[in-house]
Amino acid sequence: MAIIQLEGVTKNYGTGVGQVRALRGVDLVIDKGEFAAICGPSGSGKSTLLNLVSGLDRATSGRVLVDDVETTKLSDAALSHLRLQKIGFVFQAYNLIPVLDALENVEYVMMLQGRDLKERRARARHVLSLVGLSGMEARFPAELSGGQQQRVAIARAIAAEPRLVLADEPTANLDAKTAASLIDLMAELNETKGITFVFSTHDPAVMRRARRCIAMTDGLVDEAGSRSGDFVAA
Ligand code: ADP
Ligand code: ADP
Repeated sequence: MAIIQLEGVTKNYGTGVGQVRALRGVDLVIDKGEFAAICGPSGSGKSTLLNLVSGLDRATSGRVLVDDVETTKLSDAALSHLRLQKIGFVFQAYNLIPVLDALENVEYVMMLQGRDLKERRARARHVLSLVGLSGMEARFPAELSGGQQQRVAIARAIAAEPRLVLADEPTANLDAKTAASLIDLMAELNETKGITFVFSTHDPAVMRRARRCIAMTDGLVDEAGSRSGDFVAA
C-alpha cells in the first residue's frame, strides 16, 4: 500500500538560461510503514523532492499522490489542511519556536489542529517522554543541545499522529554519535507506532541505518536503488 507516489515528476526553478532542472522525471513509490532514506549528494534534488511531497512547493509537471490524494490537483488551502492532518516535518535547522518551551513547541501543531488544551498537553508530555526528554518540558530551545532540540522537533512531528513524517537532512547539524541515536529513535518510532519515515541525507553513516536507500543523482532517482527492498551498506 503506497503512501507516496510520484509519476514523471519534474521541477524547474526559474526560466531561460538561468533555469535549474532540479527534478527531471522522478518515478517513485514509498509504501506505508517504510523507513526510507533519500540518499544523494548536495544539489541532487532531495529537498525539492521532500518539499513537493509535503506540498510546501508544487511540481512543474507530473503527479504527486500522498495517501491516495493527488496533491498536484489541490488548492493551496486543501494542501495546507492535508499537511496539517497527515504529515509531520523535521527540518535540518530544528525550526523550533524560540519563545515557546519544549512542551509548548510540541503542542503547537495540535493547537493548529484545534485539539483542546487538556488533550494536547497530555499528548505533548507523552511524546516528549517517548523521545527521552521527560523533565525538560519547561526548557526553551536555547537551553537545549542540538540533539535535544531535534528530539523536540521529532516529538512535535509525531504528536499529531501523522501518517507520514518527512525529515530533510535531520542530522546535518549533529555530531556522528548524536546523529546515529537520532536515526535509531526514528527507527524505533517507525517500528512501534507504524509511522512511515522518509528522511534525506548525504551522510553515508546515516544512509547505512535506513532500511531502504533511494539514491538520487542530478534530479533523478536511480532505478536500482529505488527498487531494492533492503539496503545493504557496501
Ligand atoms: P539537495 O536537497 O539534494 O541538496 P535541492 O533540492 O536543494 O538538493 O536542490 C536541487 C537543485 O535545485 C540545486 O541545483 C539547487 O541549487 C536548485 N534549487 C533548489 N532550490 C532552489 C530555488 N528555490 N531556486 C533556484 N534553484 C534552487
Ligand atoms: P507556516 O504556514 O508558515 O508553515 P504554521 O503556523 O503552519 O506556519 O507553522 C509554523 C511552524 O510550525 C512551521 O514553520 C513548523 O516549524 C511548525 N509546524 C507546522 N506544522 C508542522 C508539522 N506538521 N510538523 C512539524 N512542525 C510543524
